[in-house]
Amino acid sequence: MRIIVQKFGGTSVAKPETREMAAQKIINSYKSGFKPVVVVSAMGRRGEPYATDTLIDLIQGVYRDTHPREMDIIMSIGEIISSTIMANTLRSKGYDAIAVTGWQAGIITDQNYGNANILEVRPDFIRHALKQGKIPIVAGFQGVTENGEITTLGRGGSDTTAAVLGEALRAEFIEIYTDVDGIMTADPRIVSNASMIRYITYSELFQIADQGAKVIHPKAVEIAMNAGIPVFIKNTMSDSPGTMISSRIEKQQHAKGRKGDQLITSIAYVTGRTQISIDTKHGLNEQNTILRRLADNQISIDIINIFPEKMVFTIDGHATEKALEALKDYADGCQVIKNCSKISAVGEQMRGVPGVMARIIQALTARNIDVLQTSDSHTTISCLVKGEDTINAVLALHEEFRLYEQ
Ligand code: ASP
Ligand code: MG
Repeated sequence: MRIIVQKFGGTSVAKPETREMAAQKIINSYKSGFKPVVVVSAMGRRGEPYATDTLIDLIQGVYRDTHPREMDIIMSIGEIISSTIMANTLRSKGYDAIAVTGWQAGIITDQNYGNANILEVRPDFIRHALKQGKIPIVAGFQGVTENGEITTLGRGGSDTTAAVLGEALRAEFIEIYTDVDGIMTADPRIVSNASMIRYITYSELFQIADQGAKVIHPKAVEIAMNAGIPVFIKNTMSDSPGTMISSRIEKQQHAKGRKGDQLITSIAYVTGRTQISIDTKHGLNEQNTILRRLADNQISIDIINIFPEKMVFTIDGHATEKALEALKDYADGCQVIKNCSKISAVGEQMRGVPGVMARIIQALTARNIDVLQTSDSHTTISCLVKGEDTINAVLALHEEFRLYEQ
């Protein structure tokens, strides 16, 4: 049995017209010999009648202290409505679809209401339906405890449902259908010639979590990665090939012979960082104390460089006041630059290739951008720049690695 999982997000199932298009995607894969297992989100966004946020507002608008157990019951309804409607859409076209709730699908979770963890998947019901030639339309985002309590999987959790079903049913691949063509090489609001990424690795996707998380839940990607199942991000409303998320080896096979130098896959950025530099004449002891104080105050450090008589690190801007209070004994030799941005060039292919850092620094300095700090890993090189240089820095790196040429 060649099983694939096709998940449709809220906007894909919101209206009769979009449901038609979603149905067509399912029918196409059915006709190409696949056994589709469909997962759906609740219909539409806040304000639309059966969207998750609407259901939350419905109850919390009146009863502020609703028990989490009941929150999960009401929140699970949106996906059930959606799966029933979608099953009927397919049936009206002559396809034998069947609506399946999360508990019928065997999604067994712990009792952590609102953000339950999946303990096990028992997909017998779905397997049976597939054997009978049916197309299961599974309500995403929901599960059941061993005691029969209804749970939900955390916001965006329908992606997780798709991933665990893909794993349990050994699907060939998972398709996440949404309202954009795929994941972009950079934020299109900044980079007008940003293009769609055709191939990205699982780990590259984690690096651009802020950018990528809008189209797929990172937890779902992690499950797919561990199961070795490729994930496609596709648009319900177009025939665009979408973005394929896979292992490095699969990416290399598919991307062979493509344009561009392919060293870098994406340029990501985070704003609102604060850089702190402290003179530490007493060396390691002093540096250890500083690190301990930050840790005791739950402040996490990002880019850090330690020198014999100085340390420089970056923190989330919101933690600035707290950090300065914790480090007030060092105020004398302390320099603070607020409102910095971290610009990251992400690409697993740069591993072991010399000169990438040089190209990055050159591209930035050519535009008169000061590089305040850098960090690098096998997949990512990040540079800290001043806030006012954010857009220019993203543009510079996007140009340098010709990411408009996908
Ligand atoms: N409907 C749920 C939410 O809005 C789950 C999902 O859409 O993935 O978070
Ligand atoms: Mg989503």
